[in-house]
Amino acid sequence: MWRAGMSQEIGKALASVRDKVHHAAAGRPKSLPAVQPRLVAVSKTKPADMVIEAYRHGQRYFGENYVQELVEKASDANILSSCPEIKWHFIGHLQKHHINKLVAVPNLYILETIDSVKLADKVNASWQKKGSAEKLKVMVQVNTSSEESKHGLSPSDTVELVKHIQEKCPGLEFIGLMTIGSYGYDLAQGPNPDFQLLLKQREELCEKLGLAVDAVELSMGMSSDFEHAIEVGSTNVRVGSTIFGERVYTKTVKGEASVTNTEEKMGNLSVKEQ
Ligand SMILES: *Cc1c(COP(=O)(O)O)cnc(C)c1O
Repeated sequence: MWRAGMSQEIGKALASVRDKVHHAAAGRPKSLPAVQPRLVAVSKTKPADMVIEAYRHGQRYFGENYVQELVEKASDANILSSCPEIKWHFIGHLQKHHINKLVAVPNLYILETIDSVKLADKVNASWQKKGSAEKLKVMVQVNTSSEESKHGLSPSDTVELVKHIQEKCPGLEFIGLMTIGSYGYDLAQGPNPDFQLLLKQREELCEKLGLAVDAVELSMGMSSDFEHAIEVGSTNVRVGSTIFGERVYTKTVKGEASVTNTEEKMGNLSVKEQ
């Protein structure tokens, strides 16, 4: 819940995360593209006031993983008036019947979770119908941990989907690859293999489609591992609880119970939507 003192806490947490992002970026091997990583503040389950507070502290990129929650926050009158430069990332599983709602979201910046040709085609059609002058930036979500509970396409299908987006989806601009990876990976075991797999996917993609490595972003890394992710090449980290505090899921919130229960039960904040 919102309370006095929260503003300072968010400001402090943001400053500390930013420091760590810069530090990790400075420590990358020179072989990696020297892209300044983008920090996406994941505000799911958190109130609009906290988004505004983070914005006041200079944060511009925000992420949500449920379409309905994104629609509500992005259209919130206070957010619209106080955060004119806000940029929203959609980072959750996108169901077909939510596509039109999603493309109508004000200040939608990147859709990070395209994972099939069908979905790409439908999003493309919806975006073109909207008649926007700009293309919609999209990432392709790869399931690097081969867990069934995770969305994303199989790594071997990546090249084909990216090719499809580039050749058959004129409304979309492919900008990178995204992955979640397995939970609770112990970094004492060495570099996270899921992140390494995404790096390999990028290499293969660039080779086969003739793309420049620095033209393909990598969205990987969350609260528990964003520094490691940047050190190995992430250009887009999605950080929630370290900035906004732990998410509290209550079963008593009417209408949200099924969503919150799903997350809670799976112990996984990115599981299939409902
Ligand atoms: C919730 C979520 C995050 C942020 O998780 P934290 O551990 O709170 O940083 C990042 N990515 C996705 C896809 C998420 O659903």
